[in-house]
Amino acid sequence: MTEHINLFDNVNRQFDEAADILEMPQEVRDVLKTPYREVSVALPIRMDDGSLKVFHGFRVQHNGVRGPQKGGIRYHPDVDLDDVRALASLMTWKTAVVNIPFGGAKGGVQCDPSKMSLHELEAVTRRYIAKISMVLGPTRDIPAPDVNTNAQTMAWVMDEYGRKAGYQPACVTGKPIELGGSQGREAATGKGVAIITREACSVLGIPLKGARVVLQGFGNVGSYTAKFLDEMGAIIVAVADHTGGVRNAGGMDVTALTTHVKANKGGVAGFTGGEAFDAESVFAQDCDILIPAALGGVINKVTAPDVKAKLVVEGANAPTTTGADHILRDKGITVIPDILANAGGVTVSYFEWVQNLQQFFWDEAEVFQKEEKIMIQAFHDVHGKVTKHGCTYRTGAFVLALERVYKANLMRGW
Ligand code: NAD
Repeated sequence: MTEHINLFDNVNRQFDEAADILEMPQEVRDVLKTPYREVSVALPIRMDDGSLKVFHGFRVQHNGVRGPQKGGIRYHPDVDLDDVRALASLMTWKTAVVNIPFGGAKGGVQCDPSKMSLHELEAVTRRYIAKISMVLGPTRDIPAPDVNTNAQTMAWVMDEYGRKAGYQPACVTGKPIELGGSQGREAATGKGVAIITREACSVLGIPLKGARVVLQGFGNVGSYTAKFLDEMGAIIVAVADHTGGVRNAGGMDVTALTTHVKANKGGVAGFTGGEAFDAESVFAQDCDILIPAALGGVINKVTAPDVKAKLVVEGANAPTTTGADHILRDKGITVIPDILANAGGVTVSYFEWVQNLQQFFWDEAEVFQKEEKIMIQAFHDVHGKVTKHGCTYRTGAFVLALERVYKANLMRGW
């Protein structure tokens, strides 16, 4: 059930809805939409079976007017330059929404980690970083994990970057704690999604205690979102991922599901604490809150008409197409956009960068307390724009971000 969409066009349509409200001149839109720099590299790797294979990697730096460019690295067979452009631009708007001193970037390598050995993944990562290292650095562009990359990948990034630059832990975030990673970074995105869900429920009058939640994706973002919402009293009634779907109207045991997923190569299929259902129908499941936490473009013109939730909170990046956004709005469903909802990850990445620059570390409680303060502030800043302009939360978040980036650009000069 897919709709063919270009993610970069999709983000730029969202940009234009806010730019229209701000009556932003076309020439300014052109500057703010266009990425600063795009790097495309070929990565020849000797595979374990002796064959030589060429992988393709990208790094897009979208905008650095408010600080070094920041964004994750995604490993996926389908990732292409337009996806990376879209995700890089979302990082520019996201860092502006939470008002941290970064711009936006993103990286991607076309590969399927499920079919690669650890040795092959390390080789791809090192070759990719060696080929783009001239545009990276703590004051230029700072990568982080995204889909199919993790703390181990970031350790290789730091090591490879350090071959020429020396010990520079602030060159990448999402590192293992032992190498200068921040306490709380692993849980940060899910924690932020849960905080934003709580704030949204509060202004929308949806009681979070007992609210029925459906998730697509139970990786880093999905599993931690479920954990924190469960702790806040919500009930996780269905979860779907690339292996299938499981549901239980009475609520699932999130700890048991997390243990099952870890033991089953990242998949929810086979979990006995619920009944199996067709993962394709995840967006049509009955619930109060729907949280996409996997890939982009999944809530589209095909799936949106069946959404039954009152509230959609975007854990994933770019999960909703512009067409679907309008369908959900017309159905009276509130959507909290990615650039607000999942910004807890980059916020704690910012804390990691700060701690690395100072070489002075904070405990988890301090990290979470600082994250919570920023997320609550961002939610209410966006809510202020929604109230002022009578727009959706997505447009309100873009208005806030565009104002901040535009102002910084005006002051620095074009
Ligand atoms: P992850 O690799 O840990 O998990 C990805 C999840 O998506 C897995 O549960 C996987 O089964 C599921 N999935 C993959 N393909 C699927 C398919 N075809 N159908 C259904 N489910 C599928 O990745 P993550 O870090 O949790 O990232 C998830 C989303 O959140 C991405 O859009 C990412 O860009 C976004 N995000 C991540 C972070 C972060 O800190 N990790 C921060 C902000 C946004």
